[in-house]
Amino acid sequence: MKKRSILMPILLAALLWSAALPGGRPLCLPTLFAPAEAAAVGCVSGFVYEAVRSNRIEGATATLYYEDKAGKPVVWDAGASGQQNPQTTDRAGAFRWDVPAGKWRVEIAKEHYEKAYSDWTDAASGRQNIAVPLVSVAAPEVADVIKKRDSYTQEDYITVIFSQYMDRDTINEDTIVFTKSGVPADCEISAADGEVSGASDYVYYARSFDLFPEKGVTELTVKNVRNYAGTKIEKTYRIFTETIRPAVAFTLGDVDGDGAVAPADARLALRASVGLFPDGDASVFRNGARAFLAADCDGSGTIESGDARTILRASVGLALRAGNSPLADYVNLTDKHDDRTHRIDKITLHHMDGVMTAQDCCDYFCETKRQVSANYCIGYDGSIALNVEEQYRAWTSSSEANDMRAITIEMSNDGWDDDRHVSDASLAALIDLCADICLRNGIDKLVYTGDAYGSLTVHKMFIDTDCPGPYLIRKCGYIAAEVNKRLAAQPTQ
Ligand SMILES: [Zn+2]
Repeated sequence: MKKRSILMPILLAALLWSAALPGGRPLCLPTLFAPAEAAAVGCVSGFVYEAVRSNRIEGATATLYYEDKAGKPVVWDAGASGQQNPQTTDRAGAFRWDVPAGKWRVEIAKEHYEKAYSDWTDAASGRQNIAVPLVSVAAPEVADVIKKRDSYTQEDYITVIFSQYMDRDTINEDTIVFTKSGVPADCEISAADGEVSGASDYVYYARSFDLFPEKGVTELTVKNVRNYAGTKIEKTYRIFTETIRPAVAFTLGDVDGDGAVAPADARLALRASVGLFPDGDASVFRNGARAFLAADCDGSGTIESGDARTILRASVGLALRAGNSPLADYVNLTDKHDDRTHRIDKITLHHMDGVMTAQDCCDYFCETKRQVSANYCIGYDGSIALNVEEQYRAWTSSSEANDMRAITIEMSNDGWDDDRHVSDASLAALIDLCADICLRNGIDKLVYTGDAYGSLTVHKMFIDTDCPGPYLIRKCGYIAAEVNKRLAAQPTQ
C-alpha cells in the first residue's frame, strides 16, 4: 500500500457553516462560589470522543458521581453550587464541574452508543482532562462513494467514506476489490483522514479512503471491513464504477436567470448543490483545504483562489480567498513581502525580545529600514495587529522556504527575564489567532514536532537564535493542543 499524504483531498467542495469560534474553554481552576456545602477544591473536566480524539461527541449526557462512605457511587447534587448534573456535552464534547474534595467518576450515555465511564478520579489536583471514548452499537456502513480527479496528475480516483472510523489494517486488497470485466485489478489505497487511535499511539483509524485503481475497472466490492471497535460492515457493497457520481456537481452560469452571470449565481449554485450556504461568509473545501468564501465577493468572471489547485470550476464570479484574521484590531501594512509560492500550511512563532503592544511592533516593522516584517504581531496586552496580509510571505524567519508556507507571528514578552516570558493575555490571543488561521486556511491540525517538519515552527529551527525564547518553546505543545481542541469543535462537513 502506497501511503499518500493525509492532506489528500477530503471532500470536494463540501460547505461548512462558518461557525463562530467557541468561547475560550473554561480554565480548570478552583472557583470560590458560595456553596451550601464545601467549597470547590478542583474540577472534573474532560471530553467525549469516538475512535479518535478529534472526533468529539456532542449531545452526550455526562453524569457526575461521587463515592460515598460505603464506597458506592452516588449522583452528585450540583444544584447547591449553581451547576448542573447531568450535563449535555457541547460541540467540543466537553463536560466540566467544580467540585469539593472527594472521589469522582463520570458516566457518559448517548443513544446508539454503549454506556461509558471514566476512571475514579481525585479532583483535588485541579487540572483534569479526562478523555472518555464512546463505542457505537451500530455497525458501520459505507456512507458515500464519490469520484474525484487529482488536480496534479489529472487522474480519476475514488473515495470511499464510511459512517464511522475504520481500522486501517482491515482496508486492503482483500476487502476493497476492483475488477475489470470480472478479473481482479490492481489498486492503491490510502487513508485520506487517518488519525491515531484515542487509546493507542500505534493504531490508526480513518473514515475516508482514497482508491487509485488501474484504468478501466468496472466494479468495486467493499466487504469485511472493520471499525475501530472490531465491528464489521454488515453487507457486501458491489458498485459499478460507471455509476459513481463525481464529487462536485455544480449548476453553473446564469442560475437566477437575470441575464447576467454574477456572484449571486455562484451563491445560488453552491447553495443548490450542497444545500448549506448561509448568506454571509462560508467555508468551502478546496482540495481538502478549507478556503474562505468572502461575503463581498466581487465577481470577475472566473473563480479565483490562492493556488492553481482549485477544484471548483465555475464561469461565475466568485472570489475564493483566505483573507486575513478578523481578530486583528490594528492594521498597518508594510510592503516588505513577496508573493507566496506555496499554500499556507504552517504557523511560525517569534518573540519581540521586548515589551510592546501589537501596534508598536507593527508600526516598527513599517518604519524601520531593516528588512523585517511579520504577518501578525501580538502585544503583551493580547492586542493583535496585521502587518503583512496572509496572502503574502512576510520576512520573518530567516527561511524563505518556511515563510513561503507559514503565517508568521511576533509575540511580545512581558518582561526581560531569561525565560523570555509572555503574558497569559498574549498566549490566549495567540491560541485564538492560530485557531482562526488554521480554520480559514484549511490546516486541519497544528502539529508541534520540535523540528521544522511540524506545522507549528519557531524561528530557532532555521537559524542560530534564541527566538522565540525558552518559555514559548516550552509552550508549543500546549499551544498546538489548545488550537486543535478548537478545530475539533468545528463541524467537519
Ligand atoms: Zn524571530
